[in-house]
Formats: sequence, structure tokens, C-alpha cells
Amino acid sequence: MKLETSCLQVAIFAPLRRIFSYACPASGPLPAGVRVRVPFASGSRIAMVLGMGPCPPGVEVKDIQTVLDSTPILDPALQRLIAFGAAYYQHAIGDVWATALPAALRKGQPLPDIAASYQLSAAGRAALQRVRGKRQRALLDALQTDGMLAPTTLEAGLRPALREAVRRGWAQAVAAPIPALRCSDSPFHLHQEQQAAVAVLRAAEGFSPVLLQGVTGSGKTEVYLETLRPHLEAGGQALVLVPEISLTPQLLDRFAQRFGGEQVAALHSGQSDGERLRTWAAAREGRLRVIIGTRSAVFVPLPRLAMIVVDEEHDPSFKQQTGWHYSARDLAIQRARLEGCPIVLGSATPSLESLHNVDLGRYGTLHLRQRAGGAQAPAIALLPLRRQGLQGGLSGPLLGACAATLAAGNQVLLFLNRRGYAPALLCHDCGHVFHCPRCAAALIWHRRDARLRCHHCGHEERLPRNCPQCGSAALISAGQGTEQLEDVLRERFPDTPIWRVDRDALRGREALENVVREVRRDEPAILVGTQILAKGHHFPAVTLVGIVNTDQGLFSADFRAPERLLQTVLQVAGRAGRAERPGRVLLQTHHPEHPLLQALLQGDYSAPAAALLAERVAAGLPPATALAVLRAEAHQRSRVEAFLQGAAALAPAGLEVSGPLPSLLERRAGFERAELWAQAGTRAVLQRLLSTWLQALEALPQARQVRWQIDVDPLSF
Ligand code: ADP
Ligand code: ZN
Ligand code: ZN
Repeated sequence: MKLETSCLQVAIFAPLRRIFSYACPASGPLPAGVRVRVPFASGSRIAMVLGMGPCPPGVEVKDIQTVLDSTPILDPALQRLIAFGAAYYQHAIGDVWATALPAALRKGQPLPDIAASYQLSAAGRAALQRVRGKRQRALLDALQTDGMLAPTTLEAGLRPALREAVRRGWAQAVAAPIPALRCSDSPFHLHQEQQAAVAVLRAAEGFSPVLLQGVTGSGKTEVYLETLRPHLEAGGQALVLVPEISLTPQLLDRFAQRFGGEQVAALHSGQSDGERLRTWAAAREGRLRVIIGTRSAVFVPLPRLAMIVVDEEHDPSFKQQTGWHYSARDLAIQRARLEGCPIVLGSATPSLESLHNVDLGRYGTLHLRQRAGGAQAPAIALLPLRRQGLQGGLSGPLLGACAATLAAGNQVLLFLNRRGYAPALLCHDCGHVFHCPRCAAALIWHRRDARLRCHHCGHEERLPRNCPQCGSAALISAGQGTEQLEDVLRERFPDTPIWRVDRDALRGREALENVVREVRRDEPAILVGTQILAKGHHFPAVTLVGIVNTDQGLFSADFRAPERLLQTVLQVAGRAGRAERPGRVLLQTHHPEHPLLQALLQGDYSAPAAALLAERVAAGLPPATALAVLRAEAHQRSRVEAFLQGAAALAPAGLEVSGPLPSLLERRAGFERAELWAQAGTRAVLQRLLSTWLQALEALPQARQVRWQIDVDPLSF
């Protein structure tokens, strides 16, 4: 029996809430950040070395099988970020590591040697005369002509020949030079507010978060570009985070035009494992200067990181909703703190969290109040719906405004945040509503493919002919979705092109790009769509924006709904119009007197946002307090209740626990769901109390009868 005093502590890449000990290799301790293959259960797993520590008493520890890296794959600051992410979000460290690494590394593949280029060796030069193979010949010729070749620039057919030449000693590796930066000047004369913002941001040193509040189209991107330029020219690197994959191509184009295509790369989940790994490794070696990426790009290693930009920082997509519930925006702040670099959060409609941090003096703030190029902000007006006849959810005045806009040669954008034909199918005779058999939710009618679908669990069925309750064939829709809007509009405007922009209509990234290209043609057209329309793309020929179902955001059980409504309206509004053709925004509502809508009429974000923030403070809700939600689900409701009651009883003093409360969606995919809310005065206090609490929960017998998870700083309910 081998009893060690000092053991290797490793995290297995899996959601296991504990650390495992293995024997220290005979060659000596391994540094933290090195991957190893270890025997685990009856097989073997890839794991990350966290350091050395005491051995578990009285247990025989096993030897590791292989060491996969010669040096740590992440630098100490990123290792600390990962440790922070696990502790702050109360999540298994091994799963946090797994999320932070590209899939290929998680699976144990070696780090590719991006730096290496190859040149002809003396033996290779000698061989040049006698080699016969066509490929081998072509390769040696290429090496001879170019002097040096990188595998990445080599045509794929020649790569095996290169491997062969290396094996025979004909080609040898040399470190390739880092391609030179080719900056071009901004095509614009920066307006005064842009200049002021760039001056402040360029002067920032060390950890200094700044909220850049700029109305849509005010030229925030131009500010990022010009702020980063001197950092990049001085050899630094930059990280730019965006909420959506669909936003990366546009931004990538602008950065590549300014700094050269070889220096800038995207990193997102739409890429293949190999592509992600190559980009990741090139960033780690300093060969890429700017990484533009979505959530998990916050972990990309950048040895000369000079600045972080988080664009559209208010966007809830920065929060991961499955597995490890981290906020990439908040971890970006933490990363900037750990790396001691400046960070800019940009948005036209900042989150109340960030505005609160400005109020507390934690973030600096900069404003861009004017649209660049002289464009005007659209005028906002309300369309009261009470006692108005509706056609597929559209009022007469809104349809009239559409007709007038199209007749003037302009485009219309109608926003409705509901996919499908109708959010429910109803029996006209007995009132029966078709529900998902596995969720506490109505099925969505998708008329195009004659199906009912659940948007929560993926259940779907053929459109029924009759009511199962009374047999009637009079089945009608309740409410409207984007499909129905499209139909109504096609009937009313048969000669106008209509583009539906939602997840059903768009499959793949190119689809959205295609629509954007078509719409840019500047001919009369109608765009109908969901949230996707509020993100990033500009539609300059749109002069009328209609918000179809404003009230959906006013009366929701989610305390963030009014904030989202405000952000969405101003974001959608901001996508429209240009200098010579200002836009207008019409909001259909049954509640025109609602204070939030009245505040919105001013077209400004700050005043209504400040009012909403004051309401949160008064109600003791985030960001005035820190909140975590403990969610539990099981097939039997009694088990969920028993666990949550047991959990509530174990809450440490100072942690304010309320519940159990049924979740907003009480049953999903056959699981009964409920939750506890846990609050504390500050995030630091919450973190401390939660870790005590979770340890107690692990030991609770009822915990093994349910599936449970904790969501710190939850954004959706
Ligand atoms: P934002 O990121 O704030 O939405 P962008 O940087 O994308 O704004 O700028 C909006 C539009 O205005 C873009 O087409 C951009 O090229 C243009 N633009 C930016 N700055 C200027 C400027 N100083 N003068 C003229 N046009 C500008
Ligand atoms: Zn019926
Ligand atoms: Zn369902």
C-alpha cells in the first residue's frame, strides 16, 4: 500500500463537485495547468492538475497514466479566473475547466505547434535532385522557392508530404516570424464625443472598467477600433466579446479591414473543433492580435492582453443557461482585474447591473449621445389598442402606417417576440387548449408544417383535426406569432416582398446575412421578426418600426421584463432610419398610460432606466442585492418540495431564503420544478454563504432524490 504525504490534486473534466488525488509521479511534482490522463472508475479520463496537496488518509492513491503537456496550457491569471469562476458560481471545477478549454484539448489532443514553419535542411537540399514522388517533389520545390513554409498556408494535399519530409529529416522546424500589423486609418473624421471617448480610453491604465453608453449608430465600434490601435501597434492583444455568433462576421470584417486579416480572428461555437483549436493556439502564441468571440472566448489565452471590449453588454446571451451558469461579461470584468488591464463595456441600453456599478463609482462612464453621420433618432409614439379592431394582431392605424411607408418607397420592420403561427390552439366550442403532455405550457401552432410544438422540451405532434374533449372540428388560434403576421401582411400587401426573421425561417448564419443583403437593396419591403432583429444589424431603409405586442413585456412574472422591453424597443428602433430619412416607432398597447411607456416616449434610455433601477432598489432586487436561485426537479412534486424544504432549513444565518416557489414553468419534460431564492446584501457575502450552504446540501439525503442546480445572478426564470 502506497501512502503518500503529498499528492497530485486533479480536476476531472466532468461535472463532479470534488477534486481527486493521485500519486506524485517519480519524476517530481507537476505544475498546475498541465493536463494528465488518469485511471478513473473502470476506465481513464483526462484531468487538469490543480497543484499538490495532502493525500487522503488511509486510501491507496493510484498513479497517473500520462502527462499530456510539458508546460501549463493556461497562464496563472487565467487559472485564477477559472478558480474564481468555479467558486463564484458554485460549480464543479472540472466542468469549469472543460468549458474554458477548446473541445480538442478537453479530449486530450496535443496543443498544435502553430509557431513552427519549415525550411529545407542540408539533407533536403541534397535530396532535391533525386526525389521522384510528385507530391514530395512539389513540396521540396516549394520549400526551396519560398525559403520557409507554415503548414497552415500549405495546400492540404501537400501536408502529408511535409510530414514525410520532416520524418526523413529533409525539412526542419523553425519559429515563424509573427506577421506584421498592417493598420489603416479610420475612414471617418471622428466626431467630438468619439474623440473624447477615445482619448479617455487610450489613457486608461491598469484595471479600469468603463461603461460606454452610446445610442445605436453613434459610432461605438469606431471608438473601439481607434482605442485599440495604439495598443496593437505597441505589440498588445485585444479581446472583443459579442453576444451572438451572427454579429461576429460584420465585426470581424471591420477589424480585419483596419488591422489586417491575418491579425484578427473569430472564435465561436459555430466553428469546427479543429478551427477553434488553431485559433486558440495562435492567440496563445501571440500570433493573433484581436480575438472576436462569443461567451467562451473570455477564456482564450492572450499573453499580451492590453484591453477587453464587451459589446452589447446588456445582452442576456452573455449568460450561459445550461451546465455552468456563468456570465461571460462578468467574468470578463474579473479577467481584466486579474490581468490588470482596462475593459470597456459598450451598449446603447446598458444593463441595470452596469448602471448600478456606475452609480457606486465602480465603473467610469462615457457617452455618445449623437448618431454618427448626422442620422436622427427615430420618433416614438403609442398606438392605443382598446376597442380597436385587430387583424392578426395588427391594428388599423398600424396597417395604415405600413401602407403609407411602403407607398413612399420605404421599408417596414414589425417586431413580435413569438415564433410560430399562434402561441396556442383552442377549441372554439368547449375552450380546450392543447397543452404539451410533458410541460406546463401550451403547444405552439406551427401552421406552415401543420404541427404543434413545445418550445420548452421539443415535443411535437401533427395538427389535430378535432378537439379530444368534445370532438369539435372548430379549432382556432389564440394570439399571434410571426407566421401569422407574415400571412396577414402577404394578403394585405401582395406585391411587397416580406421577410420573416426568426429561428424557424432562418436556418444557419448565411440565411440572416442573405436577408440583410436583400433588405439593403433599398426597395419597399417588410421585415417581420423576433429578438434577432434587435441585435446588431442596421436596416437603413426602414423608416417605420412597429412593436406588435408591447404589453407582453409590461406584465410578466420576470422582474427583468420591463428592463428587457425598454432595451428591445430602443434597440429595434435604433436599427432603423438614416440621415435623410429619419424613422418612427409605433408601439401597440392596451396600456398607453403605463409610466414605462410614457417614459419611453422621450426616446431616451437613461431616464426610464434610472426609474427602473430605483424600483429594484426599493424592492430589494438585483442589482441592489445579490440573488441566487436553487432549482430542483423530479418526477414527483413531493420530492422536490422535501428537498427544497430541507435546503431552506439548512440556510446559514444571513442568507435570506424564500420559497419553495413553483418555477415559472412548473413542469418541463415531465419533471416537476420548483425553486428557492437566496439573497444577501452583496455578491461577496452571497458567495461566502452559498458555499457553506452547498456543502450542507451535498449531505442532505433528499438531495439524491432530485436533480438540482444553483444559478448565481440568474437572468431567466
Ligand atoms: P455603433 O457601434 O454605435 O452602433 P458604429 O460604429 O457601427 O456604431 O457606427 C454606425 C455607422 O456610422 C457605421 O456605418 C459607421 O461606419 C458610421 N460612422 C461611425 N463613426 C463615424 C463618423 N465619425 N463619421 C461618419 N460616420 C461614422
Ligand atoms: Zn372542444
Ligand atoms: Zn414540452
